[in-house]
Amino acid sequence: MEKCSIVVPCYNEEDALPLFYEETQKVVETMTELEFEYLFVDDGSKDGTINIMRELSEKDSNVHYVSFSRNFGKEAAIFAGLQNATGDYVVIMDADLQDPPDLLPEMFKAVTEEGYDCAATRRVNRKGEPPIRSLFAKLFYKIMNRMAKVDMVDGARDFRFMKRTMVDAICSIGEYNRFSKGIFGWVGFNTKWLEFKNRERVAGKTKWSFWSLFKYSIEGMVAFSTAPLLWTSFIGLFFCVVAFIALVVLFVRAALFGDPVSGWPSLACMITFFAGLQLFCIGIIGVYLSKAYLEIKGRPVYIVREKK
Ligand code: UDP
Ligand code: MG
Repeated sequence: MEKCSIVVPCYNEEDALPLFYEETQKVVETMTELEFEYLFVDDGSKDGTINIMRELSEKDSNVHYVSFSRNFGKEAAIFAGLQNATGDYVVIMDADLQDPPDLLPEMFKAVTEEGYDCAATRRVNRKGEPPIRSLFAKLFYKIMNRMAKVDMVDGARDFRFMKRTMVDAICSIGEYNRFSKGIFGWVGFNTKWLEFKNRERVAGKTKWSFWSLFKYSIEGMVAFSTAPLLWTSFIGLFFCVVAFIALVVLFVRAALFGDPVSGWPSLACMITFFAGLQLFCIGIIGVYLSKAYLEIKGRPVYIVREKK
């Protein structure tokens, strides 16, 4: 019988995890054509998440877990999950039941009967989310799709059902700065998109603040596009042209009308403007450099403390 691994990244999910297991188990029991294993990844939780995992794995021999030595982030947790999953299929799910397990049979059908390599999901609305966050999320996808060559779908979740070939492809990408939404698109394969309405978390709190999401979006851009580097060159070129025109204009004006000594406020404005612009462009280069630095160090993406 073929096997499906359910990978669940968990950070401080002691309240949600039992509910997740219960709800998912209900669906899994109806899918008799597949064998299931759970692979919980404890991303350095500070609450009792690991105890819940231990309990579940005592009760159910199909429950396995990997526990990190500290919090390495959801991307690292997903990577660890994919690397340790043994199934012919792998599905990634959040622990808070925002990824509805009732979609599993449909996803399974898509990859077995309909010939897709992967079934992915997207939320069609963002109910229950602060409006400002939705606005920035929309903006991010717009900019990103323009900048990067990989496809990124607005509202896409990490909730996806993949064949082994795709999982192996993702695991072969060993980069340190992992941005899964981009990696899924980058590896290609035929993906079927399923849609569902947003659900609120069953228990616990979201781990994302506005600021952390903002930083995450910058990481995504840096990981999948070098367009900003090109922009800085264009900005530089553009202002060279402007400076040249200004030079000609000033020269002609001085030749025709003499040279009144005036205009130091405009000079002061220009100096601050260009100093700002230069720092901004150096900053962009710095961001890429820092990412390259982290990549070159070649540190592991995560460190395991306990595994079962
Ligand atoms: N998560 C994780 N490590 C982190 C942050 C989050 O493993 O550093 C897990 C979290 O436990 C949950 C999933 O990633 O299962 C999604 O997190 P969350 O629900 O907070 O994000 P949201 O659904 O609000 O985008
Ligand atoms: Mg969530």
